[in-house]
Amino acid sequence: MTDDCIFCKIAHGEMPADTVYQDERVTAFRDVSPQAKTHVLVIPNKHFDSLNDACSDKSDLLAHALKICALVARDEGIDERGYRVLTNVGDEGGQSVPHLHFHVLGGQELTTKLA
Ligand code: AMP
Repeated sequence: MTDDCIFCKIAHGEMPADTVYQDERVTAFRDVSPQAKTHVLVIPNKHFDSLNDACSDKSDLLAHALKICALVARDEGIDERGYRVLTNVGDEGGQSVPHLHFHVLGGQELTTKLA
């Protein structure tokens, strides 16, 4: 856990969030500023700055997180209609919170504008 990281705090129950799923490895919660009708963030509970950082992880954490993205989409009722999963990396990638997170976006026709 990184002390000043808001997503670490959410994962550890130290900051409120609209959580839709949690297990010992990942947490999924609604984005506070939704860019689509459905906008959920899936994060590893363990801190990684970004996808770059998580590549050193030897477990199946990344695969698990992606599976949970699909589970969230199913639970939100958007899996059949289609949805988007994305992660922004670094400044030029548009990442504003330096804790790896996957955006799950859907519930409407998605334009090319990304989260
Ligand atoms: P990114 O720009 O890819 O780093 O995405 C960060 C996302 O986190 C943005 O869509 C924010 O709206 C969202 N966000 C920031 N703080 C919170 C929070 N406390 N609870 C839920 N979502 C948040």
